[in-house]
Amino acid sequence: MSVSSFYFIAVISSPYGLVSLPRLEVVVDPWLEGLWKAIKEALSKMASDRIALLKEDAGSSSKETPDSYTPNVQLNLLSLSDQQDCHIVRASADTDSKYATADSIPASATQTAISDLSCDPTAGIPVSVPQTIATANASISALDTQTEYAGDPQAASLSRSLPPLSESSLNVPALPPPYLDVSLQDVDTVEQNIGRLNNESLIEVPIHRAVQLTRGDSVKTAVLLELDISAHPEMFFEPGDSFDVFCPNRATEVEAMLHRLGLQDKRNHRVHVSLKKETKKKGAQVPSYIPQNISLLYLFTWCLEIRSVPKKAFLRALVEHTGDSVQRRRLQELCSKQGAADYNLHVRDLSLSVLELLTVFPSCSPPLRLLIEHLPKLQPRPYSAASSRLKHPGKLHFVFNVVEFPACYGRPAGKRGLCTGWLFDLINRGLVFPGKAECSDSLALPTIHVSLRSNCSFRPPSDLSVPFIMIGPGTGVAPFIGFLQQREKERQEKPEAVFGETWLFFGCRHRDRDYLFREELEGFLCSGVLNHLKVCFSRDEPEQEEEQVTASAARPRYVQHILLRNGRYVTDILLKQSGYLYVCGDAKNMAKDVNDTLIEIIKAELRVDQFEAMKTLAGLREEKRYLQDIWG
Ligand code: FAD
Repeated sequence: MSVSSFYFIAVISSPYGLVSLPRLEVVVDPWLEGLWKAIKEALSKMASDRIALLKEDAGSSSKETPDSYTPNVQLNLLSLSDQQDCHIVRASADTDSKYATADSIPASATQTAISDLSCDPTAGIPVSVPQTIATANASISALDTQTEYAGDPQAASLSRSLPPLSESSLNVPALPPPYLDVSLQDVDTVEQNIGRLNNESLIEVPIHRAVQLTRGDSVKTAVLLELDISAHPEMFFEPGDSFDVFCPNRATEVEAMLHRLGLQDKRNHRVHVSLKKETKKKGAQVPSYIPQNISLLYLFTWCLEIRSVPKKAFLRALVEHTGDSVQRRRLQELCSKQGAADYNLHVRDLSLSVLELLTVFPSCSPPLRLLIEHLPKLQPRPYSAASSRLKHPGKLHFVFNVVEFPACYGRPAGKRGLCTGWLFDLINRGLVFPGKAECSDSLALPTIHVSLRSNCSFRPPSDLSVPFIMIGPGTGVAPFIGFLQQREKERQEKPEAVFGETWLFFGCRHRDRDYLFREELEGFLCSGVLNHLKVCFSRDEPEQEEEQVTASAARPRYVQHILLRNGRYVTDILLKQSGYLYVCGDAKNMAKDVNDTLIEIIKAELRVDQFEAMKTLAGLREEKRYLQDIWG
């Protein structure tokens, strides 16, 4: 066969096995224009005739599932001149034997009739996956019956693509080379306890008090936790510092993962991880966050971020362990260049976890090795200290919003953020509401593991006479409560001292529902600790607002709007009085909007152009007088 020839294979699978359509292996010269198109059309027609026929059959047989009557038609085209290094995995027999030599055999691998095209998996060459004809993905899909989903069954989804993607050739990334060997050993003792294995700075502290700061009908639930650190003088923190909270993966999700991998009976086995000999991965190392002598349960509970959104390389690797050809094709699409928008829409933007993805792709059975290679380290979550040691000796406060992920395709029920959901469950019974009697259960609050991260620059000015501006909507106000508590104490201790002006810009949805620390802030204002408290409510009706305005367009909804209104004072403090400006909270929108507004303010007040204003702001950043502590 000439290398300039085309080679194609057409296979149709159905519940009746490989159907009568003969397997075609044809060599044609590339100059036979139109042949490919004609064959494609012919096969397409055959496929749709067959679908119609089988649907009729299905109508008379209520026992048939949509899956079982959907034929799977795949047609692949390969130009050998383009991909000389590639080899063709032709049919199910080849594919099965490949699985047999892989780390595990897919438990639910269905008969696969896909003619796959793959390069040397470790050679790092992007692989072109040809188009599939017949819109198998776009027609009734087996996957849709396997997940509860109330959406339009004909719409594109995680498991289903529509033309043109379902019909297009794909550029999928090269298969990431395997680099770990993983085995499980049945031993007597393995470590199950986080405290003993983690870093030395980790300390276990009791939760002393948990207060819900938002009203029950607020969109977000914000909670203040008071930790008792009196037994830990090493937890020496300053306002502006943050600390890490170590949370485990949810037990139910760990169990689900073990079941999904078929390893539920080996949860107490010791996991042994070593570097694969002769791996082609450059700089490969055994992950440092997987300690020796840990159980499989420990691995999934404390070491791996099992909620992480699978990257495209991971999806690419999962293809190799997926038996069903429709599911393989969809995974290929999701990791391909052509499927980038689908990946963003159905995976990334929904923060879909690997476990959720695996429920939608039931024929995918990855080996444990693959999960260890691709899942990142389970990271502790940082929180800003929301108190001053001077005001609350032996205590450390922090505030968190309970993150909520809504239900979506692949996630039949909504879920909470990992750490915030875990914390909320821990303290739920002992949760108190401001102004209400504390419930007796608060004494029974549990302990958590934390470790201090110091932040050398996000601190109030050391010179007490220097003015400063704080911008912190929502839980972004947390460090500023610490700043102001400290200032309150300093004012009591040094009544003769000169104190610079303090400004706080705060925002929330509703004055009555989620105005965090309202009483404390108003108290600071009354006592002169805080000189200017500027608050905006993004969802309140105008008549409830602090400042009445007639034109709703001019209504300040967000902190940047009230900042703009006070532009003259802002530039005065920053540029004439050498003051400081701090921003804390949401990085995605708020911090950027505040930054843009500062540029506008500088432009207007100094009468300079955009470039000059940006330079001025950059100078403030460099001098560490414009400081950010942002996340999200
Ligand atoms: P995860 O399960 O990790 O999910 C987080 C994902 O949810 C994110 O990837 C994001 O896409 C999405 N998400 C949706 N809403 C939010 C949101 N409001 N915050 C974060 N992610 C969101 N959080 C506080 O509530 N209070 C603090 O004082 C605080 N201080 C921080 C200080 C620093 C230096 C940093 C880096 C972060 C801080 N955070 C704070 C964020 C905090 O560390 C966690 O990211 C947050 O609580 C979510 O954790 P989770 O495990 O519940 O959510």
